Amino acid sequence: KAKDSGKNKYNFYSEDLQKMVYQRHILENSMRKSLEREDFEVYYQPQVDITCNQIVGVEALIRWKHPELGMISPSHFIPIAEETGLIIPMEEWVLHTACNQVKEWQQKYNKSLRLAVNISPHHFQHENLLKTIIKTINNTNFCGNSLELEITETAAMQNVVFTIKVIENLRKMGIEICIDDFGTGYSSLGYLKKFTIHKIKIDRSFICNLTNNTNDAAITDAVIALSHSLNLMVVAEGVETEEQLELLRGKGCNYIQGYYFKPPIPAMEMEELLKEQNTNLQEALAD
Ligand code: C2E
Ligand code: MG
Ligand code: MG
Ligand code: MG
Repeated sequence: KAKDSGKNKYNFYSEDLQKMVYQRHILENSMRKSLEREDFEVYYQPQVDITCNQIVGVEALIRWKHPELGMISPSHFIPIAEETGLIIPMEEWVLHTACNQVKEWQQKYNKSLRLAVNISPHHFQHENLLKTIIKTINNTNFCGNSLELEITETAAMQNVVFTIKVIENLRKMGIEICIDDFGTGYSSLGYLKKFTIHKIKIDRSFICNLTNNTNDAAITDAVIALSHSLNLMVVAEGVETEEQLELLRGKGCNYIQGYYFKPPIPAMEMEELLKEQNTNLQEALAD
């Protein structure tokens, strides 16, 4: 259609562009209102220790319960939240909500339960990040040793000097860094020796064809070996089948996360899982 004539071509694109800008604007305003009304919810996905099949941690994943559009996935609104800066109050809310919740679960079911929170590149490079985190763990009485921040390679590489300082300060509070979606960024491996990180999360794109693609299997092998020789822990995301799990177990992967065990679930459901695990452990101890 756009090829028909020069004039129409211009109109075609500008109309399209206008619509996009318009929709973004609506989405942005709507997001602002939803933040005030707390129309968001934190879902939790278990992270399982591969050696004992126990839930050792949870990743907090935001959901938008839009009053008219229903549940919206983060992949649709995080990019706009990043562009508009709304990502900062949004992640502060996620951090606060998740710290409160996991603190409660620690007291009820598992003292050593860990919490992983995603931090966007924009937020990670923001001068207030440390202040926000200190304030949140103080207000929620959350132990820094149980907290880890998931950042992408891109987030870490934006300002290397700043990143080194932030990570150093986080470590003083016991907070650890996990590199999320590992293997999908464009950065060199050199940063692994510059930053004191704790964990690497192999991206789902390498895991989904693990059992039938020799390249993906080779990359996964290499990432696990590299991580372990650097004393880093490895978690595989997007594990959906028993075959993938067994393969990863054989390769010495430390943790798994994925639909095979559980998709991200509301807090109430997560609580049931933790309760059940705790009961089973108590029974095993009593035997
Ligand atoms: P992520 O941090 O890499 O989170 C993992 C995503 O993979 C989640 O998508 C999860 O639902 C999905 N997933 C987990 N296991 C499986 C599986 O076995 N199969 C498949 N197909 N998918 C699986 P979700 O919850 O839609 O989140 C998407 C992304 O949105 C996250 O990717 C993260 O980058 C971002 N996100 C979510 N919450 C936040 C947040 O509070 N802050 C920031 N900055 N980003 C967030
Ligand atoms: Mg993540
Ligand atoms: Mg990930
Ligand atoms: Mg991902």
